[in-house]
Formats: sequence, C-alpha cells, structure tokens
Amino acid sequence: MARKRKKRRSAGSRWGLVAVVAVLAVGIGFLGGYLWNDLRAVRQTARRADTARVETVVGQLDPAGVRVRAANRAAADGLLDRLRRAAGQSPGVAVGPVSRRDGRLDLTVAAGPDRYPVTILWPAPAERVPRLAIVIDDVGRNLDRAEAFLDLTVPVTLSILPRQRHSRDVADLLRSRGRAYLVHMPMEPQGYPSVDPGPGALLAGMDEARIRALVRQHLDDFPGAVGVNNHMGSRLTELEAPMGWVADELARRGLFFLDSVTSGRTVAAEVARARGLPWCRRDVFIDNDRTEDAIGRQLERAVQRARKNGTAVAIGHPYPVTLRTLRAWAPRFRQLGVAVVPVADVVRTGEG
Ligand SMILES: [Zn+2]
Repeated sequence: MARKRKKRRSAGSRWGLVAVVAVLAVGIGFLGGYLWNDLRAVRQTARRADTARVETVVGQLDPAGVRVRAANRAAADGLLDRLRRAAGQSPGVAVGPVSRRDGRLDLTVAAGPDRYPVTILWPAPAERVPRLAIVIDDVGRNLDRAEAFLDLTVPVTLSILPRQRHSRDVADLLRSRGRAYLVHMPMEPQGYPSVDPGPGALLAGMDEARIRALVRQHLDDFPGAVGVNNHMGSRLTELEAPMGWVADELARRGLFFLDSVTSGRTVAAEVARARGLPWCRRDVFIDNDRTEDAIGRQLERAVQRARKNGTAVAIGHPYPVTLRTLRAWAPRFRQLGVAVVPVADVVRTGEG
C-alpha cells in the first residue's frame, strides 16, 4: 500500500514537472516572439535605409562586424570601390572613413541610425611591388578635365580646391564613381598677397578660432574626402601652431595629411605625425615644366623613388599636357615594375 501511494505521488509530481516545462516553453516561445519582433523591427529600420545594394557586396551587415576576404590588395580596393558605389546608390547609407593597415581595411557602414563595422582582409604578398601615388591638385575649375583624369587607366587621386566653380560637381562625380579624393586646403604662400592662394585660404595672421572654422567649413563641403593636402602654403606650413590646429581638425574626422612640400622648411608632415595622423609627403612635382619631355623625366624620377623607397608620391596639375603624358605613360608603369595606387595606399602611421 505504502509503495502504491508513493508511486501515485511520484506520478503526480511528474505531471507537475510536465506542466512547469510546458509553461516555460510557452513563456520562452512568447519571449522568442518578442525578440524576433524586435529583431525584425531593427532589420526593418535598416531596410528603410536600403542596405540591400551594400549587402550584395559585403554580405549581410551585422552590428558585431562583418569580415570579407579579398584575394589581394587590388581586389580589396575593387571591393571598397563597389561598396562605395553601392552606398552611393542607397538612400540613407554611407561609408565612413577607411583605415588601412597591411592586409586589412576597416570601415563603418552607416545605415540610418545604425552602424556596421566592415573589415576587408587580404593575404600579404610575398614580395611587395613598389607603389607610386599620382595626385592631381587644383581640381574644381573644369568638370570635363577632371573626368578625363578619372578615365585614365591608372588610378590617379584628385585633390579638389574648395570654392571653385565646379568643386561640388567634381566631388559628386567622384562619389558616383566610388573614387577616393582629397581636399586641397588653400594656405598662405610666401609673397602673399601678390601670390594669391584663392578664396578661403588659411593665413598666418589668423587666430586659432578662425583657422579651425575655415578648416571645418572646407571639410564640411566635402564629406567624402579621405585626406587633405596643402595648396600653396609655403609660408603657413612652416608654422607649427596653425599646422597643429589643422592636424587636430583632420584627426577628429579620421583624415590623413599629404604634405605637398611647397617649402623646404615645412613642418606640416612632422606635426601631423606627432598628432597621430596618418601622413605622407610629396616626392616629385611632375609638371612645373609643362612639356611632355619634362613631365616624362619627372615621372621617371618618381618611378625611381618608388623603387628605391617602396613608395613615392608625385603631384601634378590638370593641364592638358599632363593628361596627355599620363595617358601615354599609363601602360609603362607596370612594365617598369611599379604599381600606380590611390594616395591613401601610401600613407604611413607613426615614424613609418
Ligand atoms: Zn595647388
């Protein structure tokens, strides 16, 4: 008897356990339903920002981060270009500043209020090909000319001078092509004011607030820029204090600084480096002398510099003769064992 009662009791508690499990299961089901709805709401917010095009390039975006593998540096750059183009065609979606290290690119895709980190990785090549960046300064006066430089088969980097007739149009064109570009920050030259750096120039006599405000205005005009180099500036770039304010403003936006080296006593690159900014420095001006022969000789110098140091930066201007010479040279760089790369690919961090 006692045994039988015990058995019945244990059967009862078993049913109790089943009931508890059932309630728990239903509860978890409800909770899961709520979570699912939350997730769906989050995804719908993102959908409102239309991430579909971006996701065809890098896969499904995830707030915890997405890693994409590319075969090599060029493929990674191609992926970045496609990503920028996809973002450009997607309402509410933007690609944030890109940080580069050997073998990886880190960036953020902003979709409406959401932020998605994306990392593009590629294996380091066994042997590094010397890299040459070619920057075309003073762009913004002529849209067709800018486009002709973009159509070159080597990826030259354009640097847009603010407040010119077509500055905004060129920036829009670059954005639509998914091409990275610089802001060409006008700065006081020796011989000012007879030598005129143009509207909105940073001058040695300006106080900190004025210089910072001007830098911000110029950068606000070009939200897609990846870096800055100086237009003229043979006086201002010799001065540590104003270059420090400029560097601070660039650091806040994750931009790099290319010192155009318009003065032998420039401190611009040192100041940028000291403030932790990625930086680089112009090695060769290619078209001070505007003939095909002279430009060709300067390109040869730039190639030699890249082969000697691993990287080099050449700066030219949107002259027809510069365009013609670069067109003729485009297939030659590879034959000379040098890769022409966007200037962002030769920036250094620290002592570098
Ligand atoms: Zn310039």
